[in-house]
Amino acid sequence: MQGIPSLFKKTLDFLIPLRCIKCGDILGEHPGLCTRCWPLIPFISAPVCACCGLPFEFEIEDGALCGACLYERPAFTTARSVFAYTTESKELILKFKHLDVLNTLPLFVQWMARVAEEKQDILCIPVPLHRIRLFMRTYNQAALLARALAKTKGWTYLPTTLLRTRKTPSQGTLSAKERTTNVAGAFRVHENKKSALKGRTIFLIDDVFTTGATLNGCTKALRKAGAAEVHALTLSRVVKARQVG
Ligand SMILES: [Zn+2]
Ligand SMILES: [Zn+2]
Repeated sequence: MQGIPSLFKKTLDFLIPLRCIKCGDILGEHPGLCTRCWPLIPFISAPVCACCGLPFEFEIEDGALCGACLYERPAFTTARSVFAYTTESKELILKFKHLDVLNTLPLFVQWMARVAEEKQDILCIPVPLHRIRLFMRTYNQAALLARALAKTKGWTYLPTTLLRTRKTPSQGTLSAKERTTNVAGAFRVHENKKSALKGRTIFLIDDVFTTGATLNGCTKALRKAGAAEVHALTLSRVVKARQVG
């Protein structure tokens, strides 16, 4: 009997071979990236800014902040990301957005779970999409990540806590300053969820940290509703130092 599950697995592998999530090459044993693609993904490691998680190019003492956070401390306590957003790594995010969820989601969640600081009694909340954009895109990838991550870590998942009160123009072409203005007041907490947030520690989940403006806007709404601290966690982030002023 013992041989049957492994025979079954071998047959499955033969029928549906594991593929590299970046280039699509057939993989041997483990799901994820092939040996050629793995070094192309710039995973973020210490030292990073103690607040926003921007990687430093040089060794620096623990607790150091980047220029932008020294100039104006974001509302979130910390922000951490798995890998830098580059031409190479962008492909992974795009595949995730375009429905290759089955292959990418379990792996992304595993990576994010490793980056998340160990904390007790956490509420896990995704950055919301406006319902028009949600309709066009059919699903909110931040919510997919948050739900699976909460399950993996044993956190409480609260999906409809944050609401996007108006449809902000797509952020793609805006400067850092324009993004901040663009999202100011764009988020609020659902009336029924406010009492659940009082004094709680929250992990706020999104796919990409671009300038931090969206995460900051969400954090302000959560703090206003009584949350004690908010830690942002994203799959990827732009690593350019943020503009100050
Ligand atoms: Zn590959
Ligand atoms: Zn920083």
